[in-house]
Amino acid sequence: MVEALAARGITGLAIRADGEVHRFDAPDKRRGNLSGWYVCPTPEVAVFGFWHTGEQQTVTLAGEHDPIAAEQARQAAERARHERDAQRQRDHAQAAKTARRLWAAAQPADHAHPYLQAKRTAPHGLRQQGDVLLVPLFCEGALVNLQRIHPDGGKRFMPRGRLKGAASLVGRLAGAGRVYLCEGWATAATLHEATGHPVVAAMTANNLATVGRALRQRLPAEVAITVAADNDHHTEGNPGITAGRAAAQAIRADLTWPRFPCPGCACTDFNDLARCQPIEEGAA
Ligand SMILES: [Zn+2]
Repeated sequence: MVEALAARGITGLAIRADGEVHRFDAPDKRRGNLSGWYVCPTPEVAVFGFWHTGEQQTVTLAGEHDPIAAEQARQAAERARHERDAQRQRDHAQAAKTARRLWAAAQPADHAHPYLQAKRTAPHGLRQQGDVLLVPLFCEGALVNLQRIHPDGGKRFMPRGRLKGAASLVGRLAGAGRVYLCEGWATAATLHEATGHPVVAAMTANNLATVGRALRQRLPAEVAITVAADNDHHTEGNPGITAGRAAAQAIRADLTWPRFPCPGCACTDFNDLARCQPIEEGAA
């Protein structure tokens, strides 16, 4: 076990064979990440892994094909998974509590905030704490996280807050005939301003499908959904369009993405497009 960990650049751990789940810092992530874990149910069996990669490895002194050791290892890994899920829930609950407190204490966002000016959008219900914009992220109707946007455009979610399935809404869903689903908040604001339709911002490409499924369940069947993907035309595999297409297929939504008149520029989303060239009525 010590050798197996050392091979991954992890040294100096005092391994305890007590059957408990122990966590440690993965070397490829920030200090304090605690993404690594191990369990030693007996001195002969150890299981370790990394949550951020999903990697898991069993080390047995008794030999690879010892069925008792294998069963102990399986149970140990199960225990680690269970503990991770419980910890994640506690983290999400704590972050949500902090988010609600910050949100309640914040002021309506200033139209003149540098980020809103740079993106040329109205605040649409965002709030502001000092010079930091707060984008509220909801899940099943509850505020669960905030995206904090600094004047220089730097963005941070709440540490250890829930992201999967969380989204921000620009406009109102009630009575809408069509709803747009996109990644970033500024894109959502621009699409809403250009089309008048409500827009749900899932924050990341990876989150589009999860948010899309929840949206499809929540909306009446006759409401159309359009996924407005980012066009990451400079990134191999175009992750924006790839994830957008997958989300659209999963919920039978329409799909659109920005076509840029500027093949050499860094534009990727509909907000960039609006500032590169005005969106034509109905083009979105
Ligand atoms: Zn451009």
